[in-house]
Amino acid sequence: MIERPSKIVCVGRNYADHAKEMGNEVPKAPLLFLKPPSALIGHGDAILLPKASSRVEFESEIGVVIGRRLHRVAAAEAEAGIGGFVCLNDVTARDLQKSDGQWTRAKGFDTFCPVGPAVVTGLDWRTLEVIGRVNGQERQRGRSTDMVFSIPVLLAYISGVMTLEPGDLVATGTPAGVGPLEPGDVVEVEIPGVGVLRNPVMGQGQ
Ligand code: MG
Repeated sequence: MIERPSKIVCVGRNYADHAKEMGNEVPKAPLLFLKPPSALIGHGDAILLPKASSRVEFESEIGVVIGRRLHRVAAAEAEAGIGGFVCLNDVTARDLQKSDGQWTRAKGFDTFCPVGPAVVTGLDWRTLEVIGRVNGQERQRGRSTDMVFSIPVLLAYISGVMTLEPGDLVATGTPAGVGPLEPGDVVEVEIPGVGVLRNPVMGQGQ
């Protein structure tokens, strides 16, 4: 489904309503961080809550799968590098994100990057919507047009920092409504036209 990407590039605070709910300003330029490919799991796989954290949260996001190499491109060219879209959950240990002062551990545990259920091509990025649910209850809803930085602008910006290779994943940020996950929960990320990514939550992580 997803070939192992060389990197997963994520964008923080890319919806104004989510930045506000976390008490943060909207950034003046895209705020980038990485998740390790070892965090990837697929549709139906369990998210494991690590013992080191007492607050793990879901973040429903539109994932972009890169289709062609992007190196220092402008936004107008970046659009051609979109290979497809996939539902992505940027699972985050919120307590560790705060206490560590940077985000590598909080965002990087095994199982903290569910993606799926399929990569869908041929969609217009302007029409996408992302919905987050826990145990069937809607918690998040955002549109690609609500992003602070649009998908082509993000890809262009990232390509000026690090070359995006085919198969790389870009997580484009989460709308307001994030919240904690507990063992036994089932979390869903839906992008209409792409599908529903569903993952159960279990204890016993490292
Ligand atoms: Mg995120």
